Amino acid sequence: MDKNKILAIKGMNDILPDTSGQWEWLEEKVRSVMSRFAYRNIRTPIVESTHLFVRGLGDVTDIVEKEMYSFEDKMNGDALTLRPENTAGVVRAAIEHNMLYDAPRRLYYMGPMFRHERPQRGRYRQFHQIGAEALGFGGAEVDAEMILLADTLWRDLGFTQGTDYHLEIGSLGQSAERKEHRTALIAYFEQHQDVLDAEALRRLHTNPLRILDTKNPAMQTLVEAAPKLMDYLGDASMRHFKSVCQILEANGIAYTINPRLVRGMDYYNLTVFEFVTPHLGSQGTICGGGRYDDLMAQMGGKASPAVGWALGVERVLELLKELKLQVPALAPDAYAVIPDLENVQRVIPVLQALRRASISVQMHASTTGADGNAAMASFKSQFKRADTCGARFALVFGADELADNSVSVKPMRGGEQQTFPLGDLGSLISFLKN
Ligand code: ATP
Ligand code: MG
Repeated sequence: MDKNKILAIKGMNDILPDTSGQWEWLEEKVRSVMSRFAYRNIRTPIVESTHLFVRGLGDVTDIVEKEMYSFEDKMNGDALTLRPENTAGVVRAAIEHNMLYDAPRRLYYMGPMFRHERPQRGRYRQFHQIGAEALGFGGAEVDAEMILLADTLWRDLGFTQGTDYHLEIGSLGQSAERKEHRTALIAYFEQHQDVLDAEALRRLHTNPLRILDTKNPAMQTLVEAAPKLMDYLGDASMRHFKSVCQILEANGIAYTINPRLVRGMDYYNLTVFEFVTPHLGSQGTICGGGRYDDLMAQMGGKASPAVGWALGVERVLELLKELKLQVPALAPDAYAVIPDLENVQRVIPVLQALRRASISVQMHASTTGADGNAAMASFKSQFKRADTCGARFALVFGADELADNSVSVKPMRGGEQQTFPLGDLGSLISFLKN
């Protein structure tokens, strides 16, 4: 390979036309579900002030400590960061535009996020999230709504609950409860310091809860026997958790309670949840979220409860592939075969009329030969193109047809060739649409 060739950055992928159709298909499914739940789209910048994430996510989280793409704006020295997630950005925008002044808001977003992680299947440096945030809602019914929203999407995509994915749910309680648990946790880990790895030792007094999230196999037994936060929850937190669970049960959502569910950001409280699939190995979490009642105030806004989730688009697409679920391939309805270049001028207005009637048409176009002149490919190779592009029909604008002011329509997957008049396109349009 030419060593001067410029390549994409490691962990950042091109999404080429052969797969972008699947992305668009997924995005369409998402828009449909979001609109059925009355969630509205929000689009915030990809670059934010570094400070936003440090304050929003917590400065001893994995993301802020080691995964952010941060840089200095050379023009003015500002500290900037490519967004590693979008809850902080959405909350910033909500505060900045006073979006909650008259009513709470249900919002969703889609877009690229950036984290400097070790690239592997299901883990990239530029990846894509689709997220939902309900700002200004404190009731357990909206925690449940959030989960129902994601679950509706899984079903629309063709996933089966239980075998393809399952829900894990837990509660982080409120800060006083977490404080009490934290004290117990530190005491417990201090008694077992010999088993802790370097990272755990470093976090012992800064963020001991994150030790529970370790992927180190040598620490698993220790972590499993650690004091559980859910045992420290008071009545109000427990009631909130139970009412979320009740709504899930009443709506056919199976779940397992995971008392050790720790999410990657510090902003969560009460309900936390993850949708996990057994089909993607250690990158099996396809969606994670929870309640973050303290974030709005922490970001300088008026205190308002909130709940949200984000799903990993690449992982969801991987799962679709793994399960061999059919994603319809993109193909035009028709391919225009134009054997003689001099007829193109006459054909294009016909194609335009078809497109205005919502029929998708791919036009055969000329190529420039060695002599510098444009020419149309042979009839046979034009037909081959019509076949490989997946069109259902070939529209043949041959010299004979045009002399007769008509077009021949050849169904590509069996059926008789038929001729239609060009003078009145009504019969052609209705044939192509059926
Ligand atoms: P993990 O434990 O796998 O690192 P996380 O807790 O860091 O996940 P969140 O920050 O909650 O993940 O992001 C929500 C979802 O975004 C994840 O459940 C996952 O599906 C996806 N995701 C997170 N990081 C990546 C990544 N680097 N590449 C691809 N998808 C990702
Ligand atoms: Mg992570």
